[in-house]
Amino acid sequence: MPSETMRGIVLRHANYRDHDRMLTLFSPEKGRVDALARGCRRPKSPLLTAGEVFAQGEFVLFRSQDRYTLTSCAIADTYYPLRLDPYRLTCAGYLLGLALAAVQPGEAAPELYALLLEGLGGLAYHEEELPLSLTTAFLLRYAGVIGYKPRMNHCAHCRTPLGISGGALLDVEAGGLVCAGCAGSGTYRLSAAQVDWMRAVLGQESLKAVGEAGLLGEDRTDLFVIFREYVESRLETTIKGSRLLP
Ligand SMILES: [Zn+2]
Repeated sequence: MPSETMRGIVLRHANYRDHDRMLTLFSPEKGRVDALARGCRRPKSPLLTAGEVFAQGEFVLFRSQDRYTLTSCAIADTYYPLRLDPYRLTCAGYLLGLALAAVQPGEAAPELYALLLEGLGGLAYHEEELPLSLTTAFLLRYAGVIGYKPRMNHCAHCRTPLGISGGALLDVEAGGLVCAGCAGSGTYRLSAAQVDWMRAVLGQESLKAVGEAGLLGEDRTDLFVIFREYVESRLETTIKGSRLLP
């Protein structure tokens, strides 16, 4: 029997017939995989939990030509606490939307997968982490994963080395910080705290402790808005749910 087992997480589902769902899975090894979950909306279905977004674990799929049908799933996590906090749930939904926008069928994406699981874990289980800081840190790291890591050390236009203290100018279109001479009408002015925070996030291996770096109030909200634009302009799409934030 052509059965395949893969790690993954449910990014999206669409109801199908009376009791079924089409799931969009993200597998770190296989990228996007669409699979039919038969009967998963029946209350006693063994696939009930696997048919929900955020369900993460090991999925067993039956393959027939190019179609996959889910046969069983060993759930590792559902990020349940997200359901208890609408704001964190919205942030987490945004992370799923970003993953969905980047993942392609048949293309491994282990770095993005690890980043997604870390982001969801932070939102679900680390109450001390501020959800919007975590989401902004995710955007910064995500930009790097999809090939658009923001330039921080040299002007994104003319390559002039930039000072490392004080505030800075960010040009979304150019893809990073720019010097005063290259700043134009679409340039955002960033505070020293924002630039320090960005450097800290980009310089560490994990999303952990992004809240402790102390990005406060408007600095936090503004940076999220800027990097939402930065990422979504590169994806050339608006991610579902992103306008519900901050
Ligand atoms: Zn320049």
